[in-house]
Amino acid sequence: MIEAAKTIRAGEEMLAEIERRSGQDVSSCYQCGTCSSTCTATLAFDYPPHLFMRLLQLGLVERALASRTAQMCYDCMTCSSRCPVGIDVADVIETTKNIADESGRSRPPKEVALFRRLFLRNVCRHGRLHEAGLLAWYNIKSGQFFNDLSLVPLVLRKKKVHLVPPRIRQRRELRRIFRQAKTKPGAK
Ligand code: SF4
Ligand code: SF4
Repeated sequence: MIEAAKTIRAGEEMLAEIERRSGQDVSSCYQCGTCSSTCTATLAFDYPPHLFMRLLQLGLVERALASRTAQMCYDCMTCSSRCPVGIDVADVIETTKNIADESGRSRPPKEVALFRRLFLRNVCRHGRLHEAGLLAWYNIKSGQFFNDLSLVPLVLRKKKVHLVPPRIRQRRELRRIFRQAKTKPGAK
């Protein structure tokens, strides 16, 4: 009984923290489902956005913190722009993810963790994203050597990605920022 009360209390405190940091009122969600019907990433989620909001409302914050939804949402904000009561759903999800990361409770799928690591390394090295390099390294490191290979001629023809890395003058400054971020307490 005491344990249950403690769990409820912890859930309430965590929800208050999410609401404070995101500036959103999670309780005003009335489960209309509009956010989920407009989200293009729900296939990759374990909880579509409206159920993610419900988890928070019910105090099941630990589930939200450990969810694929928190890790896989790519912050396009479509859900936020459609919510009839004006909740910034994307911000709620991102805040939850940040809290999960900070407290060591996040469990990103291994391909997501790999992609993030390679993405940051790529930006640090080139000063901005070099898509071709990122895709090549991702395929090599994940062992999916031929992943999306058939699309290469098309994206090259349409000039969507460039084989030669960009030359950004402020690269040094960016590397300094990366170094600083790494030395911050709690940085990985
Ligand atoms: S911000 Fe996230 S949850 Fe919202 S629509 Fe985009 S991917 Fe889906
Ligand atoms: S669109 Fe807004 S009110 Fe509707 S379920 Fe999503 S968060 Fe809740």
